[in-house]
Amino acid sequence: MNLAIENYLSGLHADEATPEDILVWAWKTFAPRVVASSSFQTQSVPLLHMISRVCPEMPVIFIDTGFHFPETLEFRELLQAHLGLNIVIAQPELSKNDFVLEYGEELYRRDPDLCCQINKVRPLQCALDGMSAWVTGVRHDQTKNRSSLHDLETQISGVIKIHPLLRWDRAQVEEYRRHYDLPAHPLYEAGYLSVGCMPCTQPVLDVGDVRAGRWAGTGKRECGLHLDG
Ligand code: SF4
Repeated sequence: MNLAIENYLSGLHADEATPEDILVWAWKTFAPRVVASSSFQTQSVPLLHMISRVCPEMPVIFIDTGFHFPETLEFRELLQAHLGLNIVIAQPELSKNDFVLEYGEELYRRDPDLCCQINKVRPLQCALDGMSAWVTGVRHDQTKNRSSLHDLETQISGVIKIHPLLRWDRAQVEEYRRHYDLPAHPLYEAGYLSVGCMPCTQPVLDVGDVRAGRWAGTGKRECGLHLDG
């Protein structure tokens, strides 16, 4: 077992640790070789707020795929100003124009897995180069794949993935946001409970599956960032 995971399991019991405890441990253990990532949607807000409170220097990676809603970019700016986050923008190797020239229009319809691989997974892999740990906001209640994740996971690359909010549910996210009077993504009230790239996101009618609006009608639920165990 990885030494960091052994230390974690012996010194910090995940069942009792708060997300803030886990963030403090992650920063103390791995800084400066630890980053968080965020898609800057409503459900991202508690983790971002906690980072601003307990480890404000931790870089927060935002993957600018070139296909985001303008409202997401505005929300990212708002949260940066409000919380003073250390945001790092990760971009694909190809500009959006060059990407369309090479792969044609609407690759996201023809082959969304390839589109996500080029515009999301690879930029994040580059941003994680040289890092020891990566903090995410994923939760058990989000998808079937995520329901079986562990607090700490070692990636094939060796990077340790840390999920401080793994055991939280949507109600706790909302309660935290209300308690601290934190803003929601501008599209939240219109039914965008989970927001990804504009061409691949629709409002959700069934609140029991908040990611139903992501790649709707394709069966795809994950972009690939969280599929490497
Ligand atoms: S979410 Fe859609 S547009 Fe964004 S990278 Fe994936 S397939 Fe492409």
